[in-house]
Amino acid sequence: MLTGEKKTIPLCVPEIRGNEWKYIKDCLDTNWVSSVGKYVGLFERSVAEYVGVKHAIACINGTAALHIALLISGIGRDDEVLMPALTFIAPANAVRYAGAWPVFMDVQPDTWQLDPEKVADFLINHCEKKNGRLINRSTKRTIKAIMPVDVLGHTVDMDPILGLARRFGLKVIEDATESLGAGYKGNKVGSLSHIACFSFNGNKIITTGGGGMIVTNNKAWAQKARYLTTQAKDDEVEYIHNEVGFNYRLSNLQAAMGLGQMENLERYIKTKRQIACAYDRELKEIPGLILPVTAKWAEPIFWLYTILVNEREYGLNSRQLMSKLRKRGIQSRPFWHPLHTLKPYRRCAAFKIEVANKLYRDGLSLPSSVGLSRPQQEKVIEIIRGSAS
Ligand SMILES: *Cc1c(COP(=O)(O)O)cnc(C)c1O
Repeated sequence: MLTGEKKTIPLCVPEIRGNEWKYIKDCLDTNWVSSVGKYVGLFERSVAEYVGVKHAIACINGTAALHIALLISGIGRDDEVLMPALTFIAPANAVRYAGAWPVFMDVQPDTWQLDPEKVADFLINHCEKKNGRLINRSTKRTIKAIMPVDVLGHTVDMDPILGLARRFGLKVIEDATESLGAGYKGNKVGSLSHIACFSFNGNKIITTGGGGMIVTNNKAWAQKARYLTTQAKDDEVEYIHNEVGFNYRLSNLQAAMGLGQMENLERYIKTKRQIACAYDRELKEIPGLILPVTAKWAEPIFWLYTILVNEREYGLNSRQLMSKLRKRGIQSRPFWHPLHTLKPYRRCAAFKIEVANKLYRDGLSLPSSVGLSRPQQEKVIEIIRGSAS
């Protein structure tokens, strides 16, 4: 082993160098560590202002945020929600928590995001209006919402999705958990949907250890979100609860960390873009590698810099390259297994899915931590270059 090779290069780890220490110490010093305390409100306001929405409600994680967002949007038992097949499993699970069913849609071959043309094809040609409801002809269930997922730090083409939602009377619940800070035609991700969610899990662009946020411009929905995430408490003193609520609120300690992280978000995004730029520059000449595309509508944050590996041209497939990198202490990760092929979702409706299956085979996410050093990135690039046939 060469010197300097002992340390592994992780896929995406947190960067904690700001006021997190100070704010968390303040919680400890003042004994305000739980779900009441000033940092929850400060963190919520900071995210709301940054995203450009009126309301933000902190939750214990992004999955819980999605669950509540679905309930607030009126998604219930045996309703259906359209979502991409190529994403992390959390949004599909959240749909099931609400008693509803995902209908899996394909993604675009170039941007890897939910394909609005296929969503349109499905809604126009395979559904029908009946008694004011939109019915999926194959399952006979009612379609209530579209859940676009902005994967990997890039954004879904929202205008056609919002247009279809208006035309068919659907809610848009955006899973923006991977893309805080990304832009869509100059708007921040999460600001255009009826309701959107973020995640502050350890591998996301900012972290609270674990955490999530619901954002919306709808005041009644924001109040409902606050109510449902705090056990649906109708009387502070007498323990009156008129609904089944959830204990989903973020703690003051975690919010303190989140506030510290938010103060550095713009710097993190700048660094992520530089990392992406260096990968683009160094990998573009290597035959058989397809680099991420930035759509004309998007200002991506490159949460995870991801490439496609064409086995015939490159000489190795994505999994072989992943194991080469792993042997040199470098972590990389394939795309998510397409959700419609996983055991809990195999029997769900899936519409004309072709692209997701191919991307899944070829995709590989490369080290993308904000703290990735130049020498580390050069090492990753050198191994990828040296592995090409
Ligand atoms: C991370 C993630 C989530 C869930 O976030 P948690 O905070 O881990 O619950 C949801 N959807 C997608 C697409 C994600 O990547």
